Amino acid sequence: MRGCVKVSPGCKHCYAETFAERFRGVASHPYAEGFTPRLVPNKLLEPIRWAGPKKVFVNSMSDLFQEAVPDEYISIVATVMLRANWHTYQVLTKRAERLGHLLATTLREAADAKHIWWGVSVEDRKFGIPRISSLRSAPARVRFLSIEPLLEDLGPINLGGIEWVIVGGESGPGARRMEPEWVTSIQRQCARARVPFFFKQWGGVQKAKFGRLLNGRTYDDMPQRVASPAPSRSHRDALTLALTPLVRSDALVPIDIRPLPRRIAAP
Ligand code: SF4
Repeated sequence: MRGCVKVSPGCKHCYAETFAERFRGVASHPYAEGFTPRLVPNKLLEPIRWAGPKKVFVNSMSDLFQEAVPDEYISIVATVMLRANWHTYQVLTKRAERLGHLLATTLREAADAKHIWWGVSVEDRKFGIPRISSLRSAPARVRFLSIEPLLEDLGPINLGGIEWVIVGGESGPGARRMEPEWVTSIQRQCARARVPFFFKQWGGVQKAKFGRLLNGRTYDDMPQRVASPAPSRSHRDALTLALTPLVRSDALVPIDIRPLPRRIAAP
C-alpha cells in the first residue's frame, strides 16, 4: 500500500507525503503517482523472500487501515505476517476503530501472534487519546503507542494493556515544538507502570542538532522479540508459491477514491 488520506493534526507534515510527492510525475518511479493511495499487491510476498529475521515497519508510507483499503487486502497482509513468522512486524495506524474491529473478527489469529505488534499514533488529547482506548479494547497480544509528533501535554494516560511507548518530536520544515515536560511526564508514567519507553528524537527543523537525549541519557527500551528461526530457501520458495494465488485474488481491486490534490491541509 502506498499513499494515504490525512485524518488528524499529526498528519500535517506527514513525512511519507513529503517523500512521495517529490516523485509525482516521474515516469516509472514507485511514487510516480505521488501520495495518491493505491494497493501494491506485487510487494505483498516480499517478507517471505527475506531470509534474516527483520523488524518490519508495515506500511511506513501509508496507513493500512484507511477506509478505502478492502478488508480482504488487510487479511492477505495478515496472512503473510503469520506465515513469515521469523520477522517481527510493527503495524501502526491512526484508524484505531477499524483496527479494533478487524482484530476482534477477521484478524483474530494475527491478533494473538507474539511477533506482530499492533499500535496506534497519538499526537494530542482530542484525536490521539481516544485511539488508546480503542486499541486497549482490541484483543491484541502486543499493543504499542507511537506518540509522535507529540503536539501537547497529554496529561495522565491509561497505560493498562500497553506493552510499549515510543515518543518523538516532529522534524523537518515547519516542525512544531515539543516541550520537555510533555515528554518527561510520559516517561515517568511509563516507569511507574513498567512499560518499556523509547525516546526517538526531539525533532525540530534540524533534528540532528537536538538529538535524542532525555534526562542526560537515551531511552531505547522495547518489548522482547520472539522471532522464530528463518526457514531454508527452498521452504521460502515453496511458501511463496503457495501464497501467490492470494495476491492475484479479486480482493486486489484498485482503490476507489478521487485523485488527491497535491497538498491537503490536516484538520
Ligand atoms: S495517517 Fe500516517 S501516513 Fe496517513 S497521512 Fe497521516 S501521517 Fe501520513
